[in-house]
Amino acid sequence: MKEEQLWNTIVFYCKDCERIVDVDRAGRKYVYMCGLCHTKNVAFGTEKSIRGYFHVEDEPVAPTAPGTPVPTESVS
Ligand SMILES: [Zn+2]
Repeated sequence: MKEEQLWNTIVFYCKDCERIVDVDRAGRKYVYMCGLCHTKNVAFGTEKSIRGYFHVEDEPVAPTAPGTPVPTESVS
């Protein structure tokens, strides 16, 4: 995935949870409910704008990279 596409991803930010969340659609209107606390205090926008506006810190999404050398000591 290109970085450009990544930054154009629409994300939802719950102002109550103060984090990017998954949402549920509430009814037919363009109203979104936070999947965590179920309030409608949710803003959405591109990930770039949301992170910039709400100062969302980069979450430590650090999947263990395959091949990362793990410091292990072989005790003999
Ligand atoms: Zn919430």
